Amino acid sequence: MSRPLDRELGMHRKIRRRDFLNGAAATAALLAAGATRAQADSGADLKDYPPALTGMRGSGYPGAYSVGHALRDGTFWNSAPQAVRTAEEYDLIVVGGGISGLAAAYFFQKRHGFGKKVLILDNHDDFGGHAKRNEFGAGGNLRLSNAGSFNIYAGEDSTAFQCEIYSDLGIDVARLAQQTVDPRFYSRLGMGQGVFFDRETFGADRLLKDPAPWTDFTFLYAPNPPPEAEERWKVFMAQAPLPDPVKRDLYRLYHDSTDYLPSLTPDQKVARLARMSYADYLVKIAGCDPLVCTYLRDRTYGSGRGLSSTTALSAHRRFGLPGFAGLNLPAAPGPAGGVEYHFPEGNATVARLLVRKLIPRALPGRTLEDSMLTRARYDELDRRGNATRIRLNSTVVHAQNQVSADRGGSVEVSYMRGGKLFSTRGRHCVLACWNYLIPHLCPEMQPEQKAALAYNVHTPNLWVNVWLRQWRPFHRAGVNFINAPGSYFASLILEQPVSVGGYRHSQSPDDPIVMTMLRGYETPGLHIKEQFRLGRAEMYATTFETFEHNLREQLGRTLGPHGFDPALDIQGITVNRWGHGYAYWYSPLYDDFLTTGGEPPHLRARQPFGNIAIANTASGADDSTELAIDMAARALAELALI
Ligand SMILES: Cc1cc2nc3c(=O)[nH]c(=O)nc-3n(C[C@H](O)[C@H](O)[C@H](O)COP(=O)(O)OP(=O)(O)OC[C@H]3O[C@@H](n4cnc5c(N)ncnc54)[C@H](O)[C@@H]3O)c2cc1C
Repeated sequence: MSRPLDRELGMHRKIRRRDFLNGAAATAALLAAGATRAQADSGADLKDYPPALTGMRGSGYPGAYSVGHALRDGTFWNSAPQAVRTAEEYDLIVVGGGISGLAAAYFFQKRHGFGKKVLILDNHDDFGGHAKRNEFGAGGNLRLSNAGSFNIYAGEDSTAFQCEIYSDLGIDVARLAQQTVDPRFYSRLGMGQGVFFDRETFGADRLLKDPAPWTDFTFLYAPNPPPEAEERWKVFMAQAPLPDPVKRDLYRLYHDSTDYLPSLTPDQKVARLARMSYADYLVKIAGCDPLVCTYLRDRTYGSGRGLSSTTALSAHRRFGLPGFAGLNLPAAPGPAGGVEYHFPEGNATVARLLVRKLIPRALPGRTLEDSMLTRARYDELDRRGNATRIRLNSTVVHAQNQVSADRGGSVEVSYMRGGKLFSTRGRHCVLACWNYLIPHLCPEMQPEQKAALAYNVHTPNLWVNVWLRQWRPFHRAGVNFINAPGSYFASLILEQPVSVGGYRHSQSPDDPIVMTMLRGYETPGLHIKEQFRLGRAEMYATTFETFEHNLREQLGRTLGPHGFDPALDIQGITVNRWGHGYAYWYSPLYDDFLTTGGEPPHLRARQPFGNIAIANTASGADDSTELAIDMAARALAELALI
């Protein structure tokens, strides 16, 4: 029997959760349960349409990772079935259907007239890797969100390969940023950033408007800082449930121009800030109460690292966090004026448009704009006769060079699909999957290369999308983005004000909307890779029911006083678990070779291996869409295919 609190929260309600909905039977179940026709319709063919699946998604559902984990644990080959040899032969086999794998296939096909035989294998039921989309509702009620990857970038430092792909796909980042984003949408409605103080951490549940400037997704919100910032500060100083010295510290950080490192030259300051954490800077250098770090806890979670794992320099330059106004620091090197952009479905747009180029029938239509409302045809991805075939639900377990003097060699690739082991052959192979798994796919590699590949430990990222009936309570509270520095979920973010093609962002507080909730995983004091491992273990050990309970409770406590009813207002939940999220990037806090000298491990890790080359962002030791594109081109160049 459910506890009273569960009933109040609506835990018993029939909403869109994959755990109990499937296919046509679900439609009847939904209608019987009182769901709207639109809800029911959108569930009618969920099984064959992955973007509309709810429940546990991302890369964190067992069907996607069980084979990979058995491989990692060394147990896979103990009970592996006998391999079945397919009759297929490919010019190129790509392992991984993320941006890097799709870009590799695209460059290769484009350079060779789109007539080569290419096979892309991915362990998920959807393509795009981290760049997938979540859908809720259908028809006129369709709501989109990114399941993972959020925004792209273009600027003077964009490479020729990045420009080529964006131009070929019709993505003009500057034009889109100017014409499809309405950055003042929420501010016109009197909304902006908020902070939720929870009683367990701060002694009282209280939602206040945040007086600080926007630091997250600044390209989506204007004006910045909010025009009534000083009014907000007055309310904040009067009402924030923080001890007075902590409030004074915060006010000082955001307002004073104190030089906290007066004896150093600007260059010495940069060097010092690059080697200390922002948490240390706040407490040891700027003399703040440690509760200031608690209050600012969430502000760097967008990078997957907390304040104690983020350098002070990065806090200043990347996140625009306070405390540096008096230091007179030099501007960051590199070109200024690049443009960031977010599609309503995040970077799934890039993945979907690449798929359209490779297999036109898989995404009918011609323009970027018409792609927004177009459903991908998953039944077209792996058709015999396609030059490029995308085979989903296929986990590669072995990629082995085959020597043949006459033909210049080939690669035998084995993969598990539907409980069966298949092997197929390609002239070349690009591994656009994850570095940490590659030593298991290529046991024949040298130990030094395997060790270098294992250096990359991905960040765990949790991105939960919640489909809401309406957002009037957010409007009443005057917030569209809430940081919650003591709560289970660190940030609550209403759908971004972006409309492309026939897709319009939610226009009125009485309309349905998608809201995103992020959780950060950090254990200050441990090495960052250990933090990632612990975070990933916690993420995988958390049940859907726990995520759902926590988000309902948090929403009720945060917005209940403004009329939010978790039992009524929540229509669907998709928990995107990215156990292996952002690829690892180096930091002077953790990567000694940056200070002592030596070769960055990713250079050794990505060495081509016979007819196999390595793409993916980890092979570039960073984590962007643009890098994924460049790494694809580099891998092809190493195989002399581009
Ligand atoms: C939550 C989140 C938010 C992000 N936000 C942004 C953002 O806003 N902007 C940005 O530029 N970047 C963002 N990123 C970074 C993102 O990782 C890169 O931009 C890029 O999408 C990575 O592409 P990839 O192809 O290298 O890797 P992936 O997208 O990880 O694709 C690799 C694919 O290979 C598959 N694979 C792995 N092993 C095997 C195997 N053995 N067999 C078959 N398939 C396998 C994986 O399952 C995956 O589908 C974000 C990442 C995450 C997780």
